[in-house]
Amino acid sequence: MTTTKIIIAIDGFSSTGKSTIAKQLAKTLNYIYVDTGAMYRAVTLYAMRHNYISAENFKPEQLIQDLDNIKLSFSFNPDLGFAEMYLNDTNVELEIRTLEVSKLVSKVSAIPEVRRKLVQEQHHMGKDKGIIMDGRDIGTVVFPDAELKLFMTASADKRAMRRYKELLDRGDNVTYEEVLFNVEERDRIDSTRKDSPLKKADDAVEFDNSDMGLEEQFERIMSLVNSRVKN
Ligand code: C5P
Repeated sequence: MTTTKIIIAIDGFSSTGKSTIAKQLAKTLNYIYVDTGAMYRAVTLYAMRHNYISAENFKPEQLIQDLDNIKLSFSFNPDLGFAEMYLNDTNVELEIRTLEVSKLVSKVSAIPEVRRKLVQEQHHMGKDKGIIMDGRDIGTVVFPDAELKLFMTASADKRAMRRYKELLDRGDNVTYEEVLFNVEERDRIDSTRKDSPLKKADDAVEFDNSDMGLEEQFERIMSLVNSRVKN
């Protein structure tokens, strides 16, 4: 008996636990997990290193001209159980998660040329299905025909607290207030940009996980998956 492989698209606001759920689903279903936020973060890191963007200035046309020199790839790390982000063949998994990158990524991800490049790569990754992709435009733009679409939300303070704890665990020196500001600011820019704004697809199932534990979310999502997978 062969089980049909499907595409699972997970979108939602910043720090709603999309990647935690996606990783768990990927492990259980033996699917590939693609964190598209990591791709936008890696392009942002490249732009920062080349002085195309900083807190003070932004030169989108220079980044656009240099896009062909940005090679993104994922490599599965069996010890961690997920694929890490590589920028021009160097592992950048730690560097892309800093608050400095978070503060600039929404400006970079609003550039249509950047989106076009990454969406093309994302299409390619999903061509054989059996994939879980999370981001902001997966159910609306990247895979509008995905068999299962989820849209995750949670209150801003719960989301900021999650991200704040993650950054503290890494040893980063940040305040809760600046993390909260960043989470809200990113959501504002991501939801109001012209190209592929963050919004719930009409056929997405919404999860507000402000007060829902991981186990309950996982069980509910697994029953949705089972209803979509035809044996
Ligand atoms: O998911 P994560 O919070 O790491 O995403 C970082 C940023 O990348 C988002 O705030 C958004 O600006 C951008 N992004 C996007 N489209 C996606 C995934 C992420 O614009 N599909």
